[in-house]
Amino acid sequence: MLFSDIADTFAKLESTSSRLEMTSILADFFKGLEPSDLRDIIYLSQGKLHPDFYPVELGMADKMVLRAIASASGFKDDKVEEMWLKEGDTGTVAEKLISGKKQMSLFSQPLTLKSVVSDLTKIETSEGKNSQEAKVKTLSGMLHDSGPTEARYICRIVSGRMRVGASAMTILDALAQCYADKESRPEIERAFNVTCDMGLVGEVLAKDGMEGVRNIQVKVGNPIKVMLAERLPSLGEVIEKMDGRCAMEFKYDGMRAQAHITKDSIKIYSRRLENLTDNFFDVGERLMQNLKGNEAIIEGECVAIDPDTGNMLPFQMVTHRRRKHGLDSAIRDIPVRIFMFDILYLDGKDLTNLPYEERRNILSQAFDMDDMVTLTTMEIVEDETQAESFFDKAIGAKCEGVMAKSLSDASVYRAGSRGFLWIKYKKDYHEALTDTFDLAVVGAFYGMGKRAGKYGALLMAAYDQDTGDFCTVCKLGTGFDDAFLDAMPALLDSTKVKDMPTNVKTGLDPDVWFEPKVVLEVAGADLTLSPNHKAAYGWVKDDAGIGIRFPRYTGRVRDDKSAEQATNVSEIFDMYEMQFSDGL
Ligand code: ATP
Repeated sequence: MLFSDIADTFAKLESTSSRLEMTSILADFFKGLEPSDLRDIIYLSQGKLHPDFYPVELGMADKMVLRAIASASGFKDDKVEEMWLKEGDTGTVAEKLISGKKQMSLFSQPLTLKSVVSDLTKIETSEGKNSQEAKVKTLSGMLHDSGPTEARYICRIVSGRMRVGASAMTILDALAQCYADKESRPEIERAFNVTCDMGLVGEVLAKDGMEGVRNIQVKVGNPIKVMLAERLPSLGEVIEKMDGRCAMEFKYDGMRAQAHITKDSIKIYSRRLENLTDNFFDVGERLMQNLKGNEAIIEGECVAIDPDTGNMLPFQMVTHRRRKHGLDSAIRDIPVRIFMFDILYLDGKDLTNLPYEERRNILSQAFDMDDMVTLTTMEIVEDETQAESFFDKAIGAKCEGVMAKSLSDASVYRAGSRGFLWIKYKKDYHEALTDTFDLAVVGAFYGMGKRAGKYGALLMAAYDQDTGDFCTVCKLGTGFDDAFLDAMPALLDSTKVKDMPTNVKTGLDPDVWFEPKVVLEVAGADLTLSPNHKAAYGWVKDDAGIGIRFPRYTGRVRDDKSAEQATNVSEIFDMYEMQFSDGL
C-alpha cells in the first residue's frame, strides 16, 4: 500500500470539519484494506504507531525535524527555521519546501505503509549516544522519498502533532459503516472501551467481523476506559433516582488508579491512561504482595496520608507523586494509601458484566487488606436520613463527598461511560452554587496593567462528545496568583497554534489559540445563556449557548484528565437545568 494514498486521505480529512464527511471519507478508504494495514493506518491517523497507552512516544523535537527537512530539501538551516517561525508547524514547512524541490532524485523510492512504519519504528526505538543523529538521518531519508503531502504528515507524526481532526469516535463510526452497520456501533465502542486499542478493534473487525468484536475481553495490561458518575443536586434526589436503596461510598479526594496486577508485574494507569507505575511503585508492590490470586485488574483512589496523624491529606499532596524530579523524596515523605472501589478482572474472568454487589464481594476477598491497600468505606443506605449521616461521616473523614452506586441487576461496570449507575454528591454542592468544571484551555487574551506581557485571561471550553468539538463556556481571568501567571507560558505554549483549531467552537476571538490539551478546574457562580459561548448552542434558546458566570480558577491543573475528559456539554446542560430545581 502506497503511503501517498494514506497521506491524501489525511489531507481530505483535514479539509473538512464535518464529522459525517470525515466518517464517509474514512469508511470509503477502509474498504478492502488488509486487516493489519488497517490497524497501522488507524494508529497513524492519531499520529501514533501504537495505542494511546503505549509507553513510548515518537515526539522528536521540532529543531531536529527542521534539520531533517533542511537536509532532504537542500534548503539552508536558517531559511527552514525562519519559515517555521512564521508557520509554527513543521508539517507545513516540509510540505512547502519539499514541493520546492526541482525534481525527485533518480534514487528515490516511493514510500509504502510498511516502509513508513518501519522507519518510524527505527526513530522511536533508537537510543544511546548517536541516537539524535540517527533519527534525523532516518527522517531525512523518508522526506527525500516523499511528495509534499506525505512530507506534511510524516513531520506532524514525528513531532507528535498530527491533528487531522478524526477523533476516536469518528473512526469507530467509520469502522461500523464500512464493516458492520449502525446497530453494531455500540458493540464496537464497547470493545474499544475495554481495550483502549482502536487499532486492535479495527483489525479484529476486518478479520473476524462482529463475532470477533463481541469476543474481545478485558486483558491484564490493556487499560480499560473508566466508568464515570453523574451528579445530582441533593441526597434526596440521589436516593429517589436509586429507587430508594443504594450503596454509598466515601468519595476520596485523590487520584484514580487502575492497577493491572500479575504475580510478577504491575502496571498502574491514570484515568487518562498514563502509566503511573513508577509514581506509585510502593502501592504497586503492595498490591502484588496482597493479591491472593494470580491476576487482577482493580480500581481505586490513591490518597496522600499524613505520616504523623494517619489522616487523609488533600488532593494537591498526592499530585507530588506525578513529579519526574524529586519523585524519590515524594514517595518517601508522602505515604499513599489506595482505597479500592472496583474489580474488573480476576484470574481469567472478565467481571465487568457482574452487578456491583458481586464485584464488591469478590474485591473484598481478593486481597489481604492493610495500612496501604484497603477498601473504600461503604454502607447500604435506604433513605435520605441515612444518606445524610453517611455524607457527614465522609466529610468528617476529609473526603469530598459520597458516591452512590446502584444495586440493581443492571449495575455492571460500564467502561467509558458516564451514567446514573454511579451518582456523585459533593461537599461543594452543599456550600457553593455549583459543582466545579474541568475545562480545556483553547485560547488566551494578553493581559493589561499589572498583567501586561502575560496571558491575562484564558478561553475555556467544554467537550461535546457527539461532535468531537470543544465549545467555549467562559473567559477565565480570576483566581490566578502570580506564580500561575508566570507559569502559564510553560504550561500552554507547546499547544499554541496559528489559527483557531477546527474542533473549537466559540464566538470570541482570543489573541492566541491553543490546541485543546491542558485542563483546568474552574468554579462558577451559575450558568447562564450567552451568545458568545457555544456549549449546548441552540439547546435552550436558538441563538445562545450556555456560559459560566463569574468563573474562577480553583488552582487545580487537572493533568490527570485529557481534553476529551473535560466536563462535557451535556453535563453543562444538565447543570443548567438543575439550577431550576431545588439544589444547585
Ligand atoms: P471529579 O472531578 O468529581 O473527581 P471526575 O470527572 O474526575 O469527577 P467522576 O466520575 O465524576 O469523575 O467522579 C468519580 C471520580 O471520583 C473517580 O474518577 C475517582 O477518581 C473518584 N472517586 C473517589 N472515591 C470514589 C469511589 N468510592 N468510587 C468511585 N470513584 C471514586
